[in-house]
Amino acid sequence: MLIVQKFGGTSVGDLDRIQNVANRVAKTKKAGNDVVVVVSAMSGETNKLVSYAEHFSKNPARAEMDMLLSSGERVTASLLAIALSEMGYDAVSMTGRKAGIVTDNIHTKARIEEINPSVMQEAIQEGKIVVVAGFQGVSQDGNVTTLGRGGSDLSAVAIAGALKADLCEIYTDVSGIFTTDPRIEPKAKKLDKISYDEMLELASLGAKVLQNRSVELAKKLNVNLVTRTSFSEEEGTLITKEENIMEKPLVSGIALDKNQARVSLVGVKDRPGIASDIFTKFSNNNVNIDMIIQNVGHDGKANIDFTVPVGDLNDAKKVMDKFVNDAEVDEASYDENICKVSIVGVGMKSHTGVAAKAFSTMAKENININMISTSEIKVSMVIDEKYAELAVRSLHAAYELDK
Ligand code: ADP
Ligand code: ASP
Ligand code: MG
Repeated sequence: MLIVQKFGGTSVGDLDRIQNVANRVAKTKKAGNDVVVVVSAMSGETNKLVSYAEHFSKNPARAEMDMLLSSGERVTASLLAIALSEMGYDAVSMTGRKAGIVTDNIHTKARIEEINPSVMQEAIQEGKIVVVAGFQGVSQDGNVTTLGRGGSDLSAVAIAGALKADLCEIYTDVSGIFTTDPRIEPKAKKLDKISYDEMLELASLGAKVLQNRSVELAKKLNVNLVTRTSFSEEEGTLITKEENIMEKPLVSGIALDKNQARVSLVGVKDRPGIASDIFTKFSNNNVNIDMIIQNVGHDGKANIDFTVPVGDLNDAKKVMDKFVNDAEVDEASYDENICKVSIVGVGMKSHTGVAAKAFSTMAKENININMISTSEIKVSMVIDEKYAELAVRSLHAAYELDK
């Protein structure tokens, strides 16, 4: 088999752990498989590099951030290759560029445009273990780019797709996908399987165990994706097509996203095209928008509320300042002390009362719901950040996910 193994920050968090990863990779190779390894930076490293940049500037150039942040993954890739060589294995580390990962030029959240895997393939054919620095690529004009936080998951899935690997294993610090973040609710249960769509919702709604774009790509390319722990031999969770899952739970999991901010626009000029103007501007500035609510205010003016990731808030403010200056909007205000709690499950498609239960659970805890959005397989609520954990635990109990 050709297996892609991705090791996250905690798994390569110190030198002993890198040795542990080397042993694990060696075992897979020894069993007769070809192995391509994708590594993250050592845990905390990317955040440390971000804080170094912030020491000098509140708004550093994004291209420079990519030069800086991509270095963390190079450290672990080369160290792992050195460790493997010392154990007698033929191993070679590669940057994103050498691995052939070509992206657009949206620095710090670049999208992969294509992968030219020939250099990796050649090395594999020579019997080498290929170790790729995750999270990074190169733009058409030759600049280093990074794939957004948590982006090594995307590197792994994209490489697995390009190499037509038999399996893509994501090794992390928990033993699989749980009904909710086990750090918030210790009673959370590990799932044996979860569908791509449910995983995509959970990941997009804050469950950082997999980066959402990696799940989207795994679904598109039909990659066999498994999440498991690097600290034991315990079986993990298979992320697969819905039809491969016999038992369809009503609710599969609960996600929490604290990295959201609410933008409230008061007195938006009520004319055809205004929503289009505002949201096209956001899109052009790569600001991610969610949960849009518009209601008619007074004097022919509307109010619009929506959420953005905290990381996009500065860009959102810049866009809004312009609309306020141009008198298209009376006032824009921002609230970072919110969070989004969501319940996800394919079973919702065919059952009623799932959303009602979420709302009554919040009511029982006296938690006010600020915004609601639903889709076929999810219900999301924006609430005050101070109730985040309480909300997750009460919902987990209400849907009997601990049973
Ligand atoms: P890595 O550094 O290996 O990429 P991450 O920190 O990005 O790991 O993701 C793993 C973390 O995701 C876990 O430690 C856990 O706290 C969190 N998490 C959130 N939701 C879930 C969930 N539903 N199941 C498992 N882990 C989750
Ligand atoms: N090191 C990067 C981050 O912390 C990418 C990753 O770990 O997946 O976001
Ligand atoms: Mg991660």
